[in-house]
Amino acid sequence: MKVLVAVKRVIDFNVKIRVKSDSSGVETGNVKMSMNPFDEIAVEEGVRMREAGTASELIAVSLGPQACQETIRTGLAMGADRGILVETDADLEPLAVAKLLKAVVDKENPDLIILGKQAIDDDCNQTGQMLAALLGWPQGTFASNLAFADGKADVTREIDGGLETLSLSMPAVITTDLRLNEPRYASLPNIMKAKKKPIDVFSTDDLGVDVTPRLEILKVEEPQGRERGVILADAAELVEKLRTEAKVI
Ligand code: AMP
Repeated sequence: MKVLVAVKRVIDFNVKIRVKSDSSGVETGNVKMSMNPFDEIAVEEGVRMREAGTASELIAVSLGPQACQETIRTGLAMGADRGILVETDADLEPLAVAKLLKAVVDKENPDLIILGKQAIDDDCNQTGQMLAALLGWPQGTFASNLAFADGKADVTREIDGGLETLSLSMPAVITTDLRLNEPRYASLPNIMKAKKKPIDVFSTDDLGVDVTPRLEILKVEEPQGRERGVILADAAELVEKLRTEAKVI
């Protein structure tokens, strides 16, 4: 089966986020960028399917500025066969991403598309669900295990009361949770090989998608810092503070 994975370029998870002085967003200049961690898990799952012979082709797709080529190259170095970049400098909201991914799906006709459950920059957790709705395909979100049998994808997902397993007919959309796998590091020879793998580039106009934002960001602010804690002498002092300061008893 042919598998697409969506890989987003985000601020690296180790970077301390700084808000711009004009409160219009977060600083991205001179900041280390990486593949969204949930998307690394999506690529790893696709590569394992490729190695097991379940997948015949794995395509890494990224949407955003030209620098997203690096993110795609990381996916290619992990084992994807080729890449697709939808190049745009626009700020993409999840609905625009889902529409662009649908346009790519219409071109490529994959059997499965794997996304991260959320991007760690916007924490939206919307794109996979919107894409499944636009395509009219079944969706298995927050997958912690994936198995294929009889033309179906069995997706195990964590829910409040335990684990739920869904059997999806394909084509389908799957989003990854942390427990699905542990992504590999790309080896140096594979990084070199990835440089020769093809990346097709499209514009949003080529795909006929209007990406004009529907939301207006009014202000971005740092969360309030936490006050320092105090060490109390005994339980009596705690009870007293709960009564007089916190006023909870
Ligand atoms: P979100 O709904 O924004 O939290 O993103 C969920 C998932 O959608 C991400 O983990 C990616 O797999 C995919 N995605 C979102 N934005 C992009 C993008 N610009 N390029 C590629 N994939 C994306």
